[in-house]
Amino acid sequence: MPELPEVETIRRGLLPHVVGKCIAEVVSRHPKVGQGRLEDLVGTTVTAIQRYGKLLVLECGELACAIHLKMTGQLIWWGGDGSLVMGGHPEEGYLQREPHKHTRLVFTFTDSGRLFFNDQRIFGTVRVLPVREVQKLAFVAGLGPEPEQLTAEYLIERLQARKGTVLKSFLLDQTEVAGLGNIYADETCFRAGVLPDRRSGTITPDEAKRLVRAAQETIHLALAHQGSSERDYRTAIGEKGTYLSVANVYRRTGQPCRTCGAPIQRVVVGGRSTHFCSSCQH
Ligand SMILES: [Zn+2]
Repeated sequence: MPELPEVETIRRGLLPHVVGKCIAEVVSRHPKVGQGRLEDLVGTTVTAIQRYGKLLVLECGELACAIHLKMTGQLIWWGGDGSLVMGGHPEEGYLQREPHKHTRLVFTFTDSGRLFFNDQRIFGTVRVLPVREVQKLAFVAGLGPEPEQLTAEYLIERLQARKGTVLKSFLLDQTEVAGLGNIYADETCFRAGVLPDRRSGTITPDEAKRLVRAAQETIHLALAHQGSSERDYRTAIGEKGTYLSVANVYRRTGQPCRTCGAPIQRVVVGGRSTHFCSSCQH
């Protein structure tokens, strides 16, 4: 599932192409995907693109189009005039001009540019609502701070309030910390030197400080790599994110730890596949 770095990479990728453009047509290709009056977007101009945790919001004047990619969602931009230049890895580029079998929604702009919402598993959602109601969505209103806004004081207090919860589950809870998912929770725990299956109540103030710094460093590095393409995730111009090539523990089971050489281990914590180094993390 796309996490903060992936959704933020898509947001940044779409900004120069979509903001200021007028929507000429919105075509839904699957009844489960669109919610609200998609047709009301026609004739509006995209004024901004916001992100709330993993939720992407196209602001179109008084209206908002809230897009959640969930498991397998993609947003692929095509420039319409054919002038789109692919980034550094054309062999991995994925220039989509037309809808394909997983395309659930197509936005067409008045300059012929298109934005394709592809979603193989169809868990993603595209919802039209008044822009003033976005902040009231339960998902948005309940979001905790993102790693960038996280402070040690906040984390120490919340870890104690949830002291029986396993650390990994705590980090995945979007109401406690927004934007982390399975990949970056594991990477954050490694970077902080803390085992992900510890109870939150056992995390010391010093470890909490390390977790804050680790979460921020992990997100910065992931953004620099345009996120992680474990499966379906692609940037707004169809490129893969390359973070997994530098990941410390995620999906590296049995491979040597980049710090100490011990084999990376995998266990299931809170129902989620979890990776760690038993000699670097305590
Ligand atoms: Zn190690």
